[in-house]
Amino acid sequence: MTVTVTGTPAGQGNLSAGRHGKLYHSNSAELKTWRTLIQVAAVRVSGYHPLTLFGARKTCMRCGKRAAEHGLFSGPVALDAVVALARPPSVTRPYPTSRHHSDWDHHARALGDALTGVLYADDSQIVDGHVRQVYVDGPGCPLPRPGARITVSEMPR
Ligand SMILES: [Zn+2]
Repeated sequence: MTVTVTGTPAGQGNLSAGRHGKLYHSNSAELKTWRTLIQVAAVRVSGYHPLTLFGARKTCMRCGKRAAEHGLFSGPVALDAVVALARPPSVTRPYPTSRHHSDWDHHARALGDALTGVLYADDSQIVDGHVRQVYVDGPGCPLPRPGARITVSEMPR
């Protein structure tokens, strides 16, 4: 199952300390938008709907499935992704190695979370992960625009 998303990739885990020392995602608006775009693309390609909870209930309002079982794949999966970033105008280096970008593992976390409830019930089902980040006009980028291409496949049994 391959999900192709166009948008501005945002990493998850760039935490900042707010007032009273509470931690929050320093890019929360971008991250929310990015995760929504991924989920919409995953729904479109898989035909599976997102988990829709109501109040304290732990079952989906739409299909009655338990949250713990809500997703296309029920067993262990592999996730393989390319994250394509826009190149800032002044940057000439071939790969996004600057600190201005999220780290690859933060991208992995955002992708893993965004697909939860659609392609699998919990991102703990991902036992094999590979995330590569590239510039959209740089070496090895398969995408014409910034975004991501994510392939999730069942592990052999
Ligand atoms: Zn459902």
